[in-house]
Amino acid sequence: KCVYDVERLATKVTISSANARDLIALSNSLEQVPSIKYFLKPLGDNRLTQLNQNCDPLTDVTDWTKKALIENPPVLLTEGNLIRKGFNSELDTLRSDSHSGKKIIAELEAKERSRTGISNLKVKFNHIFGYYLEVSKSNLKFVPNDYERKQTLVGSERFTIPQLKEYERRVLGAEDKIIELEYNLFCELRSTIGRECQRIRKTAKALAQLDCLLTLAEVAHQFGYVQPNLHKGEELVIKEGRHPVVERQGNQMPTGGFIANDLYLNNTTDQILIITGPNMAGKSTYLRQVSLITLMAQIGSFIPADSAHISIVDRIFSRVGAQDHLQKGMSTFMVEMNETANILNNATERSLIILDEIGRGTSTFDGISIAWSIVEYLHGDSAKEGPKTLFATHYHELTDLALVLKGVKNFNVQVKEWNEEIIFLRKIIPGGADKSYGIQVARLAGLPEKVLHRANEVLFNLEKSQFDEVGTPKIARSEEETTKPQVEQLGLFLEKAHPAIKQLETIEPDNLSPRQAMETLYNLKNLIKKTSK
Ligand code: ADP
Repeated sequence: KCVYDVERLATKVTISSANARDLIALSNSLEQVPSIKYFLKPLGDNRLTQLNQNCDPLTDVTDWTKKALIENPPVLLTEGNLIRKGFNSELDTLRSDSHSGKKIIAELEAKERSRTGISNLKVKFNHIFGYYLEVSKSNLKFVPNDYERKQTLVGSERFTIPQLKEYERRVLGAEDKIIELEYNLFCELRSTIGRECQRIRKTAKALAQLDCLLTLAEVAHQFGYVQPNLHKGEELVIKEGRHPVVERQGNQMPTGGFIANDLYLNNTTDQILIITGPNMAGKSTYLRQVSLITLMAQIGSFIPADSAHISIVDRIFSRVGAQDHLQKGMSTFMVEMNETANILNNATERSLIILDEIGRGTSTFDGISIAWSIVEYLHGDSAKEGPKTLFATHYHELTDLALVLKGVKNFNVQVKEWNEEIIFLRKIIPGGADKSYGIQVARLAGLPEKVLHRANEVLFNLEKSQFDEVGTPKIARSEEETTKPQVEQLGLFLEKAHPAIKQLETIEPDNLSPRQAMETLYNLKNLIKKTSK
């Protein structure tokens, strides 16, 4: 706590912008180095030993500073009061001159009072007129002839006398000289310290590294972090992972604490996780916690989880939050697309990508379409593996991607619906969310009931046109499939072995009783419902 930003202070010294307080802060910081070295010594670790060697106590610098500067100097260098007594004999003489001059002025005031009989006569000082004797109007008749008028005010007159002029010269002269000398002595000290800058910088760097290591060790110890297993393979596995920052607010959470979550990613079967769930469910938190844990593992830190098996990544890409750069001519959506373009153009199979909502800044259809094709693009194939990706979205339509891409898995953040209310459980579970719950979250936020009711009606209308004749989401089609005649399209689904159609083919309507026909129909409907989720 007693160590300031030594590197910054060193820079201020070298560019001659450090004031006396900066030098004191530098010296106080360096004074901690011997005890830091003392504690490091017995630890024996190679890295810590190296850092210990790089820490120079710089006792010459602290000695100079302590000898020259007073403990609490002012910020300004032009007011004096910087240098200690005993540091410079010329300065000490000037100071005693100045001090005795002040004493003489006080004596002169007493003497003039008794000589003139003016009891409220005062010796005063201001920066324009220097020292003067002030006499109120009512006492002017007592002013002796040797008083020389300096200035007339409404209620008083100001005078001077030869003795006062002489003292003034002595006092003010000494004070000017003191300030100038103190300033020069200070600058000399600063340049002397400046010449040791390389040593100071080296120490500063070692102290900064120690600070980081100590902080990571301290949070690991305090908050129960574990050592991850970092490896060169492809799997990224986290058991009971937590968000290092959000979990700290755990006791204020309605769930009664932070809910830990697992993760499994690889480059083939579980390469892209589509994470659905309503707003406020905990998607962003999960994405960020996975990337933070991965990052912490790469930098050699312990991590907030029960255990983890973490692949070495070449980069962690993230597209999170919404911001614009209007002054640079970029809307929110443009910024989002720029960031996404950067990711798509640079990610490799060793990268980790977190995408927190893509395509939000445009129309729903545009947004879903872009998001859909991005996932297809990121998806690996036999020729090339794709980057490990977490994709959070409230477009639950995107869960259909898992039907067509083998490396895509659906997960959702568990919620419970209860009396039109929504309860967030914060647990990541396999499977896609079947709806976005936007209207329920809007209700939580207090939107008028009339708006919510109408929104439900509009939603119903929209959802009606979402599936084709056989209950398959229209969104999953490619251009080829869309333009093929309907019969062929059915054929395509047969190839993909849609179980409902297969079952339909085996049915002989003439051989069914009305009751059996009814049952078959129900079974088919259930089958379609199940497979389209
Ligand atoms: P989303 O991205 O789904 O809209 P957020 O990740 O922003 O949701 O989470 C919303 C809030 O839920 C957070 O501010 C946090 O307080 C809480 N939260 C998120 N994840 C958890 C968790 N695992 N356990 C407890 N609370 C959580």
